[in-house]
Amino acid sequence: MYSPTVHHLDCAPMQPVGGPPLVAHCLLVSTGSSLVLVDTGLGVADVMDPRRLGALFRKTVRPTLDLSYTAVHQIRALGYDPRDVQDIVVTHLDLDHAGGLADFPDARVHVMADEYRAAMRRETRLEASRYVTAQWAHGPRWVVHDTADSDWHGFAAARVVRSPDILMVPLPGHTRGHCAVAVQQPSRWLLHAGDAYFFHGEMDLRRQRCPRALTLHQRMVADNHAERLTQLERLRELRREDPRLIRIFSSHDAQEFDRLSEEERMGRRRGALRRPIGRSGF
Ligand SMILES: [Zn+2]
Repeated sequence: MYSPTVHHLDCAPMQPVGGPPLVAHCLLVSTGSSLVLVDTGLGVADVMDPRRLGALFRKTVRPTLDLSYTAVHQIRALGYDPRDVQDIVVTHLDLDHAGGLADFPDARVHVMADEYRAAMRRETRLEASRYVTAQWAHGPRWVVHDTADSDWHGFAAARVVRSPDILMVPLPGHTRGHCAVAVQQPSRWLLHAGDAYFFHGEMDLRRQRCPRALTLHQRMVADNHAERLTQLERLRELRREDPRLIRIFSSHDAQEFDRLSEEERMGRRRGALRRPIGRSGF
């Protein structure tokens, strides 16, 4: 089986007031014939015109606005052509996840139906501030998934790509149509849990903990707080059952991002030793 190359990208480092530094953890998966991007962080237009993100987000979450962090820039720096990004899978459409969509105007954008509807309608005050319509004013090639008819480790899921297997796993709560994204690797799964939780301590099976500022923030921005907690408990159960075969991480936890990036670097170094000429991927 072809072994997909997975890169971990931080597409918007953030320093929220009173909380720990956060990342915007995105994945770039090279399938051998195309690229798949999971979430997009902030994009070029957000950096060029930060006002569109709103004063509240800029002043309280304090994102680093620098073109070098955008997914399109990092993809070029890795030696890939951004035009090869044929599919983007979004965990949800909050402004810190959808900002880079316009940098890949030809890509298919996979989104759960409940999320698509929530972002297009923006019915509540919270939804009016969290979804920035300018981020999809270019008219993305939406692929709206309204059924989750596959089974992924006991979770209903919608398959997006077959080789490697990439599935959307609905985990509503943070937003109406929020989902995790499962990416198959040769000997394990990566589960990008989006904003199902913000801090690694929330997934600690013995002693759950989370900095107070992040606990309050998550409660404040949850579409359905009780539902979010129910889904989080399901994630903990998954980790309890199979911690080695499924690697769960969230969008914003810096420690998880650092560990996975380091593993990726080590893996590439080992690969380079085995393969003296050329490099993996394209
Ligand atoms: Zn987020």
